[in-house]
Amino acid sequence: GEMQTVNVPDAIENVLALIQHKLGSRITVRKDFSGAAEIRCSPALLNQVVMNILGNAADAIPDEGTITIETAIRDDHDVIRICDTGPGVPEELRERIFEPFFTTKPVGSGTGLGLAIAYSVVQAHSGQLSVESAPEGGACFVISIPRRTA
Ligand code: ADP
Ligand code: MG
Repeated sequence: GEMQTVNVPDAIENVLALIQHKLGSRITVRKDFSGAAEIRCSPALLNQVVMNILGNAADAIPDEGTITIETAIRDDHDVIRICDTGPGVPEELRERIFEPFFTTKPVGSGTGLGLAIAYSVVQAHSGQLSVESAPEGGACFVISIPRRTA
């Protein structure tokens, strides 16, 4: 993909519109875009990464819940943080979820490729994709991209 300066809030709003049918009224989306406003990246690839992570968050929330999307600047990185109020990712699976074809979803409903693709896309931007525990026990996916690439 072609590197551009992407407006992060706009990009995230576009993806939210595309997956609105998955969120419906059962999932509240909280947004705090007071941090990083722009990222140097491929817009199409960023969309794909955010779409995969938001789709997983929606899958993880059983009934009603909240997805929180925040942007931040940490040192020389732009950060997008996506947290959900689902069950979280068990410690022993935190590395495996990024492997191609790893899925805990029923046969036919998950390819297990979403996070593997997201991981390599973020890596191709010299960034990092990691998972943490949300304060409320859910999962937090953290996309971190260097502010300036050589
Ligand atoms: P798929 O969605 O097809 O299963 P992914 O690569 O997107 O494949 O995700 C791999 C696995 O990581 C999921 O099957 C699930 O076990 C775990 N996972 C991903 N996101 C979350 C999340 N937000 N909460 C809990 N588990 C998650
Ligand atoms: Mg997925």
